[in-house]
Amino acid sequence: MHNVAAIGQQGAVAYLSYVNRLPEVQLQEQQAWHRTLPNGLVLLPDFVSVEEEAALLEAVTVDTDYAQDKLKHRVVKHFGYEFIYGSNNVDADKPLEQRIPTACDFLWQRLSCNEAVPKIIPDQLTVNEYEPGQGIPPHVDTHSAFVDPILSLSLQSDTVMDFRRGAELVHVQLPRRSLLIMSDEARYDWTHGIKPKHSDIVPTPTGSLTTQQRSKRTSLTFRRLRRAPCDCAYATLCDTQQAKAPQALDEALSTHATELEKQNVHVVYDQIAQHFSDTRHTPWPKVTEFLQSFDPHSVLLDVGCGNGKYLNCNTELFSIGCDRSLGLLDVCQGRGQRVFRCDCLQLPIRSDSIDGCICIAVIHHLASRQRRLQALRELTRVLRPGGRALVYVWAKDQCRNDRKSTYLRQNKAVNKQRTTEQAQRQQLSTELQQLTVMDNLEVSLPVHTNRTEFQQQDIYVPWKTKGEQRTTFLRYYHVFEEHELEQLLTEVDHVVLRISYYDQGNHCVIFEKRK
Ligand SMILES: [Zn+2]
Repeated sequence: MHNVAAIGQQGAVAYLSYVNRLPEVQLQEQQAWHRTLPNGLVLLPDFVSVEEEAALLEAVTVDTDYAQDKLKHRVVKHFGYEFIYGSNNVDADKPLEQRIPTACDFLWQRLSCNEAVPKIIPDQLTVNEYEPGQGIPPHVDTHSAFVDPILSLSLQSDTVMDFRRGAELVHVQLPRRSLLIMSDEARYDWTHGIKPKHSDIVPTPTGSLTTQQRSKRTSLTFRRLRRAPCDCAYATLCDTQQAKAPQALDEALSTHATELEKQNVHVVYDQIAQHFSDTRHTPWPKVTEFLQSFDPHSVLLDVGCGNGKYLNCNTELFSIGCDRSLGLLDVCQGRGQRVFRCDCLQLPIRSDSIDGCICIAVIHHLASRQRRLQALRELTRVLRPGGRALVYVWAKDQCRNDRKSTYLRQNKAVNKQRTTEQAQRQQLSTELQQLTVMDNLEVSLPVHTNRTEFQQQDIYVPWKTKGEQRTTFLRYYHVFEEHELEQLLTEVDHVVLRISYYDQGNHCVIFEKRK
């Protein structure tokens, strides 16, 4: 009996069809109810009475727009300190006039009787108001901002909160008037979020599932400022540990730059040349535009030409390309292009001879600042006075004006909220432990999770080959901070910066050699 039925709620339509087996997603969903709570997560039902609930709501009501933000998905108010959403942090030097209302004090007194819960006197309160259909994206409360534990009181309506770590998913039903305490693993190593839905699917006492309508819910999140770096034991989601860019690392990179680039750039590109080339055919419009800006018969040099996709963009130019990878040069030669092999730090080209250079997605493979600078100097050397160069490097920041780069937009699982970036990172770190390639790395660097935001500047980016022999190659990258490329360019003599811009997740510059 395959059928379509109209159901009463919100004019929804149900499509019915028989299946032999439940889809796997459905099974995961069901299993997510039967898991034990993450370590450190405690739920205390009926923590406040109906009368206390009313008094608390009264106490946190603010008449004016004081410290109130209308976020995309919900209304929030802050007490004690403002939580700044851009940085996901608080400014400890700027306490708010409005402290946590004293009407809340009985909560910690009541909590202190519970042996299972770490002691805390909060100094920051965030009030979230959720209308039905609103939620909060999966996140971890910034480690360095707040100490352990974090308290969350649910008022007015039940809801369901999802906890995730890697591939693990645990649904937690939060009844109205319950207190949730997140500490240890649950606070540091799991993300939590609420799906934006009008109703939840929840288990019944008999073990089946049923729907539960949401109504307006107010949550009171109580936290205490840390005022120091985080010292937790869970590095994956820890901003303090992720932000560490020790000088020792820079030194190690400088010392081993040549071997690192050989092993984790040159050798890798040779191995993946064909597959890489198959995924790179569309020229970026801004690069094409640059190539169209030269007079006919100008000499163009593409440094790091890859599969040569820019060499035929403007056929009126005399275009030549060079690369380190024999595999990629073979691809170019097969297309009848003029290419040769060399290193971008030592171009076998006469000084002052080239009308235009492009260097797209190359310099971010150089493992020290000195070498990145040298590459820019070398481009400048070969340019004739008045000649121009265009350089693209990968940007650490893959979001601009709230818009994700193409690279991030291709992460369908995250964009459709089936999982989170954090969960993907945790999953990758598990997978990598089984990789033998990790043993012979020159420098120990974090491995980036593809199609997620960058956490550090110096990283290995995995390249997974398809086909029978599935291999993961690790490519070295230095992703650039904003203005880092322009800054490097100020140290190159005889150049004038013409334009700098952000394009397709890259920082880009066009510069000219002084006449
Ligand atoms: Zn931490």
